[in-house]
Amino acid sequence: MVVDGTGQARYQADIAIDHDKIAKIGKINTKAHEYINAENLIVAPGFIDIHSHSELSTLVNPAASSKVYQGITTEVTGNCGSSLAPLDGPMVAKVKERLVDYRLPLSWRNTREYFEILRQNKSATNLVTLIGHGLLRQTVVGYRNREATDIELERMKAMLAQALEEGAYGLSTGLIYPPSSYASTEELVSLAKVVAKYDGIYTTHLRSEGDRLVAAVKEAIIIAQQSNVKVQISHHKAIGQQNWGKVNQTLELINQARERGLDITCDFYPYLATSTGLSALLPDWIFGGQKEEVINRLKDNYQQIIDYLNQERSRQDGWEQIIVAEAKNHKDYEGLTIKEIAQQLNQKPAEVAVELLIAENLSTSMIKFSISEADLRKVLQVDFSMVGTDAISRVKGTILANSHCHPRTYGSFPRVIDRYVKSNLISLEKAIKKMTYLPAKKLGLQRGLIEPGYFADLVIFDLEKIKDCATYSNPHRYAVGVEFLIVNGNLVIKDGKQLSNLSGYVLTNN
Ligand SMILES: [Zn+2]
Repeated sequence: MVVDGTGQARYQADIAIDHDKIAKIGKINTKAHEYINAENLIVAPGFIDIHSHSELSTLVNPAASSKVYQGITTEVTGNCGSSLAPLDGPMVAKVKERLVDYRLPLSWRNTREYFEILRQNKSATNLVTLIGHGLLRQTVVGYRNREATDIELERMKAMLAQALEEGAYGLSTGLIYPPSSYASTEELVSLAKVVAKYDGIYTTHLRSEGDRLVAAVKEAIIIAQQSNVKVQISHHKAIGQQNWGKVNQTLELINQARERGLDITCDFYPYLATSTGLSALLPDWIFGGQKEEVINRLKDNYQQIIDYLNQERSRQDGWEQIIVAEAKNHKDYEGLTIKEIAQQLNQKPAEVAVELLIAENLSTSMIKFSISEADLRKVLQVDFSMVGTDAISRVKGTILANSHCHPRTYGSFPRVIDRYVKSNLISLEKAIKKMTYLPAKKLGLQRGLIEPGYFADLVIFDLEKIKDCATYSNPHRYAVGVEFLIVNGNLVIKDGKQLSNLSGYVLTNN
């Protein structure tokens, strides 16, 4: 049964693949080198993970098993303001240091050289690269909380233009993360205009997904309006009970903007918990400057921070809703809630959080239950939403699986099918369209549809069996039900098992 990505009803057919392209669909009697019996299985275009963070993990291990077992054949990397190219100035040493943990040399500077490294490294999935605004600002302005000068803005625009020229697909922002958060709307409009010139996309982790969510969506719409850029609102949701229901308003705003002709879409992951740095709990004023400065401010204003955190938690979801994910120096805390750790230590939860941040040099992540099921269903059902994992690729039994993580890493795509298609909230055809044609169209890829001439990225799965297996307490579990996965005409999964093929392409927008 072919679910072709268009959203149209499934139909029965044979599919012939020639090299890396789909050659023919219908009743086919031609002889082939290899046959796949897909009887009783669904054949769909390979899933496109519109919100991935695999830019580094793919270099560490290109197998991307956590993704391919979900049926993903293309990943859009460099999201939320963070990419690995282009590198210049202070970022060279910084990235070099990050790579040391993985014993990787830093052998690129510009985006063209980065793509060359990706090609040499090979990958199980196709890779799309966005340029991180956070990276550009760190390179040019540093960590200072101020507007960019005209000269600095010109420099960021030039860096971005070169990267787009070399094949990057657009710009990503992470507007809650400093120093991305220090950018004015005007700065973002200027940069978005450069992206529009190359027909790229602007993906945005909004300035607020909580109390100021509506204003943040309005800002994204203004950016679309003033630059004519194609906008993708990342992992759309309303965080914190007091904000639940706000997506009704934001989706309506997006809808109205779309009716005015703006290309604004969004994505989501099908879970009720978020995952980000634990430092995201801290007040805005604490940031600015280098990490040491932030930590010093944390120590100098200890009681004030504790009071702030307690006040926020009493207003929002409590400490029992926050799980420590990655904590390099406190492996025994991983997977526990802040409340559980506090009980163990006989300490106050807020103190545990602040002390953990200091001990981990701010680099610790959390999983936080803060989204409502009703909101998730709303976002899932609109016809302009896509699916993303918001995660790096992981491979069990390797360095990429040695820390706790959010189950979305391993389960997002099958979970949409298992939970929301099988319960009839959305049809399989519509769900598949969100995972394939919609993101492909947004990016301008010749993928995401089952049509002659399109690249042969196909996922073949058992509709009964497909499901996510990763849980909050046990996230490192591959999804099941994908029987075959084909990337550019090559089998990556056969009979439910990943092969060693690395047939993904580095996709460039030029
Ligand atoms: Zn994000």
